[in-house]
Amino acid sequence: MGRLPLILCAAVLFGCHDELPAPDWSWQGEHVIIHAHGYEKTDICGGTFTATDEQAGLIRRWHGREDEGGPVEIHWVTPTRFSEGDWCPEGASGCLSDGSVRLSHLPFGHELSHGVDYSLGYGVPTPVLAEGLASIHSGPTLLGPSGPGAPRPLLDQDIQDVLDGVSYPDDWFSPSTAGHFVSYLIERYGLEMIHKLQIEVGRDANRAKWDAAFSSVLGDSFDVVLAGYAEYPLCSWNQFRSKLWECEGESDLSATPAMDPTSISIDLSCSNNDAVGSHHGKKRAALRLHVPDPGPDEWGEHGRFYRIDVRRPGSGSLLFGLLLVEECGVPCSGAPKIWSFPDGPENLGWQNMSYRMSPGIYALVLFAEGEVTLTVEPTHVDRR
Ligand SMILES: [Zn+2]
Repeated sequence: MGRLPLILCAAVLFGCHDELPAPDWSWQGEHVIIHAHGYEKTDICGGTFTATDEQAGLIRRWHGREDEGGPVEIHWVTPTRFSEGDWCPEGASGCLSDGSVRLSHLPFGHELSHGVDYSLGYGVPTPVLAEGLASIHSGPTLLGPSGPGAPRPLLDQDIQDVLDGVSYPDDWFSPSTAGHFVSYLIERYGLEMIHKLQIEVGRDANRAKWDAAFSSVLGDSFDVVLAGYAEYPLCSWNQFRSKLWECEGESDLSATPAMDPTSISIDLSCSNNDAVGSHHGKKRAALRLHVPDPGPDEWGEHGRFYRIDVRRPGSGSLLFGLLLVEECGVPCSGAPKIWSFPDGPENLGWQNMSYRMSPGIYALVLFAEGEVTLTVEPTHVDRR
């Protein structure tokens, strides 16, 4: 899986000028048009297209350009046809090429992000920034750039090496590293600066171009930008990535110290018209858990413990799936309050544990199959 990010990371503007085959059918939403090649409508759960459309809209809103850009063209191609055709560079499972997204599975947040950026007219972006933004918008997935979980930093390349000489797409680099660096730039200099840098640096970046662009756009030299980055917290991909659809909407549950155990049932099967997937056989959904501010409270600052249990109703068995518990609206530089378990596919059954939660909104992201019951209850810790 270590090389997976490199395969997911694909050319932003891969020169492929062949005429694309006519799609078998198409689906149009508000922000995307999905062209199916070899797929039937029943090959995907009913909520997937809508979720893709909504995510495109949320990425636009994240950019502050909610009502701009035309629909993102997405070619959704069966793996067989995908491997036989010249859709993308060899080895890539998706790409943006000639202005359209090509991919073999949905949802695919990484390529969707490239498509949205293109639709917003960010010129020919420099790969580090483009891949960084795509990395920020690519999750959550069962097989994300950092694996399912991993509350550790995953910077497998030195950003200076990446900035110094990337010939794209010949030299791959880690989207996770790029995403972490872009997260730093956004927190320190603001999103608008990223957009200016994208245009200023262009596709074929080198050290001199970065230096000039950092000075003119950010007002800091290359060395100053990199020195600031050296101080930036080494958070994991799950911490710096954006949480858009996961955190969108009303709270589903509220957790208080006096609460009774509270359960919610979710139907994560394709027969549910709202189901999204498949992600390697799993469907995904998110609940919002609100932990209200208790007011003056000796525990308020450090939070209280709540147990979250996920299992199949009736069977008593813990669920075979994945639960990500992530605090909404906390950037990388915030305290690392975001958890995701388990830390590897071998532990996928372990879904009953306590989390220390300070006031805030938490996204409980589930990857599972079938009927699922999620229960939240306070954990009473002996404080003596
Ligand atoms: Zn990419």
